[in-house]
Amino acid sequence: MSKKKYTVLIVDDQKTNITLLTDMMSSEYNVFSAENGQDGIKAANDYLPDVILLDILMMDMDGYAVLDILKSSERTKDIPVIFITSLQGDDNEAKGLLMGASDYITKPFSPVIVLLRLRNQIKLLEQMRAIEKLSMHDHLTELPNRRSFEERINTEWNRAIRDKSPVSILMIDVDLFKRYNDNYGHQQGDVVLKTIAKCFIEELKRPGDFAARWGGEEFIVLLPCTVMPGALDVAERIRRRIEEVKIPCSDNDKLAEKVTVSIGAYTREQNQECTINEFITRADTALYDAKKKGRNRVCFFGEE
Ligand code: GH3
Ligand code: MG
Ligand code: MG
Repeated sequence: MSKKKYTVLIVDDQKTNITLLTDMMSSEYNVFSAENGQDGIKAANDYLPDVILLDILMMDMDGYAVLDILKSSERTKDIPVIFITSLQGDDNEAKGLLMGASDYITKPFSPVIVLLRLRNQIKLLEQMRAIEKLSMHDHLTELPNRRSFEERINTEWNRAIRDKSPVSILMIDVDLFKRYNDNYGHQQGDVVLKTIAKCFIEELKRPGDFAARWGGEEFIVLLPCTVMPGALDVAERIRRRIEEVKIPCSDNDKLAEKVTVSIGAYTREQNQECTINEFITRADTALYDAKKKGRNRVCFFGEE
């Protein structure tokens, strides 16, 4: 696999600087440029570059003002900005760093120093992204974790209220999993959880659908813009797929006993009063019903 090419945006009102910087970076990076602050902010929003090289002394809007706007927007606030400027002096540099710039390089610049400092920012970025991924994903199944789900549901909840659209949720629990672990061992149990996670990824086709590991052998699925029949349909497809999937035993190739799941479903219809907690609890209650009724089935909250 080829190494990911990072994207750098240069904002400078002098064409010669842009050309010089672009020439030295273009073999290593995808480079975009803008010749004034306004265009720079637009390009940052349009392309979401990995790093921005920003001049300070520019007509109309200076680099500090550009940085201020970038840092105050949710969309662009985390993009590292390196000032690259003819403005010398500790005061100017301190001001830039205090405002949130990641680095400060003075002109005339040495190409090798610019490249090395850029590389440092990329290194930090990679570390940050790796930490973010670890903190938002479950190590075993590689699905988003509970914290990630909680973040997503907040966003989708607000969107559903704003757009007056329904949201559905599925709470999924592996049936008699303790017995499975006892029979086949914990490691084989882990294989089951990984296999089930893959089933979600394969069954959930719409871009907004979101599956996470809720904890232990419980999973949770969020289905934005989905009414009750749609949610039941997805739940049933997931239930059937897991029932049919063949999970070989680790010791020999004969098939392990069938693994099934129970699913509790709930839909918040548009305009319905309900809190996020109630929403999740109702799916959980429906899951409990599915267990009571004999497992390997889908129950909708409140259905008889
Ligand atoms: P039910 O059908 O009522 O849900 O029965 P159950 O046996 O699945 O429920 P119970 O809550 O009694 O047991 C859950 C089991 O799931 C016990 C626990 O060891 C197992 N489990 C939880 N997390 C993991 C995991 O990460 N790996 C493995 N292998 N097992 C796990
Ligand atoms: Mg459980
Ligand atoms: Mg269980």
